[in-house]
Amino acid sequence: MVGLFQRDITVAVLSSGSAGNCTYVSDGRAGVLIDCGISTRRILARMDGLGIGDWPIDAVLITHEHSDHIGSSRVLAKALRKRQGKAVPFFMTRGTDEGAHPNSRPEGIEYVESGVPFRVRHLLVEAFTVPHDVLDPVAYKVGVGDVNVAVITDLGRPTALVARKMRDCDVLVLEYNHDLVQLMDGAYPWHLKQRIRSNHGHLSNQQASNLLVSGMGPRLKYLALAHLSEENNTPDKALASARAALAASNWYDVDVFVATQNGMTEPIRIKTNVW
Ligand SMILES: [Zn+2]
Ligand SMILES: [Zn+2]
Repeated sequence: MVGLFQRDITVAVLSSGSAGNCTYVSDGRAGVLIDCGISTRRILARMDGLGIGDWPIDAVLITHEHSDHIGSSRVLAKALRKRQGKAVPFFMTRGTDEGAHPNSRPEGIEYVESGVPFRVRHLLVEAFTVPHDVLDPVAYKVGVGDVNVAVITDLGRPTALVARKMRDCDVLVLEYNHDLVQLMDGAYPWHLKQRIRSNHGHLSNQQASNLLVSGMGPRLKYLALAHLSEENNTPDKALASARAALAASNWYDVDVFVATQNGMTEPIRIKTNVW
């Protein structure tokens, strides 16, 4: 077919967890960061370490105003203007902007609305609402050619909307925050345990696996388990839960791994057809 060619999509989880979240999605020609909850220095150093230090960052997509997602945006905006010679847009909902601490408000804010897709160069981006205890939180799906990547963290419960958005995804970065028994038996104060397990807190392993089973579609190839609590979960428990859910659905073709806080997980590379 005239004009059809293949390209590699790279999905690099640079950091995942309550100390800071940041994921880079790119086909080498255009790229976006989803959240910037670790320092600008770390973001750029980790990209460097993965051999993609000079790849473009055309936009930053912010999910919500908690500092582990938006923390470095002000500094990052300045650094990116310098790095790329022009201001880079920071997309977020109006609610996230209103809820953000003044110190983490970047220049170049553009508002997104749940369910209204937009383009960042040739990448197709869509924000969609998730239930979390902030003003207007979203998760993001990024489409490059015929490949879709979704980063879905910080939600208190599975919803039909999120499951629907997952259906045509090839790559999912999905929250597996806590093991419910470990959380309730653990050292966290009662109010914090209640917040985490509430409908506007974080997904337990079991909730994430339920969401996975209800939402995943036939294209799913890679599953990164994300935003694991260091106190209230273990990589083994999260992996066991995800693998059991996939096996129960007779799905064995999915590459599952845990995204870490220090970002040293090998990036996902997947082929896309671009017209
Ligand atoms: Zn978070
Ligand atoms: Zn949060």
